[in-house]
Amino acid sequence: MSDDFKKNLDLALGNAKRLSNKILIDGKLISAKSSNKIKVVNPSTGEKIGEAPQCDAHDVDTAVGSAETAFHKWKKIPARERGKMMTAAARKLEDRRDEIETLLALDTGNALRTQAKPETAASIELTHMFAGLAGEIKGENYPPNIPNTIHYTTKDPIGVVCAIIPWNAPLFLTVAKIAPAIVAGNTVVLKTAEQAPFCALLVCEILQQELPPGVLNVISGYGEECGEPLIAHEKVRKVTFTGSFSVGKIIAMKAAPKLCPVTLELGGKNPNIIMSDADLEIAIPGVIDGMRYTRQGQACTAGSRVYIHEKIYDKVLEGAVDKLSKLKMGNALDETSDIGAIISEEQLKRTLYYMDIAKKNSSTEILHGGNQSKGGEYKDGFYYEPTLLSGLPVSSPVCQEEVFGPVACAIPFKSFDEVMKSANDTQFGLSAVLWTKDLSRALQFVDEIEAGFVQVNQCVAPRANVSYGGIKMSGLGKEYAFDSMINHFTQSKTVLINRGKSNIDV
Ligand code: ADP
Repeated sequence: MSDDFKKNLDLALGNAKRLSNKILIDGKLISAKSSNKIKVVNPSTGEKIGEAPQCDAHDVDTAVGSAETAFHKWKKIPARERGKMMTAAARKLEDRRDEIETLLALDTGNALRTQAKPETAASIELTHMFAGLAGEIKGENYPPNIPNTIHYTTKDPIGVVCAIIPWNAPLFLTVAKIAPAIVAGNTVVLKTAEQAPFCALLVCEILQQELPPGVLNVISGYGEECGEPLIAHEKVRKVTFTGSFSVGKIIAMKAAPKLCPVTLELGGKNPNIIMSDADLEIAIPGVIDGMRYTRQGQACTAGSRVYIHEKIYDKVLEGAVDKLSKLKMGNALDETSDIGAIISEEQLKRTLYYMDIAKKNSSTEILHGGNQSKGGEYKDGFYYEPTLLSGLPVSSPVCQEEVFGPVACAIPFKSFDEVMKSANDTQFGLSAVLWTKDLSRALQFVDEIEAGFVQVNQCVAPRANVSYGGIKMSGLGKEYAFDSMINHFTQSKTVLINRGKSNIDV
């Protein structure tokens, strides 16, 4: 173990220990009312790194009570003042960047150099962006279309926001939800993911130091026991969620009886399409980047259906396999690792389940990977080789369902019409990528593809000021840009004020 690796690990373990068994209520780290605990494990080694409180409806009530009390004062603070506080909070994140990125790698198993550091940088930038947009929260002034009447709309905070996040990008998704909600004048109760609770808690602890107590509260626990009472709580007036489609559907139903608005960022089975005229210098690395192999494929935007024109099929796959063979998998806190560990044993089993289906199909060709990595440095951690498959029928569950692991399927095609039909033949509509030098083809793709996040000749990850979200079964609403703050975290009044003259005379 190198000196840097040991230093990173010690820093992260120290924070995990300090935050173990804590929730954030009313500006303070405290113990939960529930005495039950969730064991938290380092995905890279399988070792226990701490415990998270298994909060229940009592803890939900305390957290919502804190947020509700804080809301009545917070909403009256001018938006620019709220923004300044958020800027000061974002600066604190910068100051403690090392702590955040190492804890993120420990919590998630996502490699420090390729994932945790960029996610931390992107999260700080996003927090700054929303802080700076505070002064843009404003309604509209209407022309005098009703005689003697001043007519305008407001953009007001909604109230207590419930934010529920998953484990795959817990830092970026935390700030993507809480920064716009808080700057817009709401208060928040965040429920972290049971598999990776510590980094989100650390970041909220830091942010909360620059905010009035109770504006940001954090609890941990399981979906049914903690998430559902939080959504259903009568004082919660907005729900924002990122996670699986199956849970998103439950969340929408739980929020429905009180007509509580919901924002949902759900899954995808995203097409990455390489036309025969594509520039392969960028398209081949695009297969690897697009699949998010360096995040073990655990990304909603992973381009896991790799459609390749038959004329260049072998060449692209040869290039992709060559690139895959150069990626180093290992402990997330070791900066020489390109790829880290899968989040949990349960998620590893999910990859094994889909690979079992693939291996049982006689037409499957495993071009790269295809095995769980065991023994040696992988002993007790949750590792699976980055895997590229060919030959599976498109109807196979491996090509249709979200594996959320490091498994991509290559699929040959003959024509644009054929590939578009297949690419759109899914319940999901999150992200889609096309590689071509033909501009009119690219524009036709943009017109016809059923996806909310569409890219041509690149496959960058979502980031600040890129409006991101899915259509079809991939979600409701867009995040990460200014419109998300207005659309998801404010409500509007239409105001008509008579100037003191009767309209009847006009
Ligand atoms: P993943 O498959 O990525 O773990 P999930 O959708 O299962 O994603 O979980 C994402 C988040 O949703 C986690 O914080 C989890 O605890 C929460 N969750 C799971 N089930 C429910 C539920 N029934 N109600 C509210 N939250 C839930």
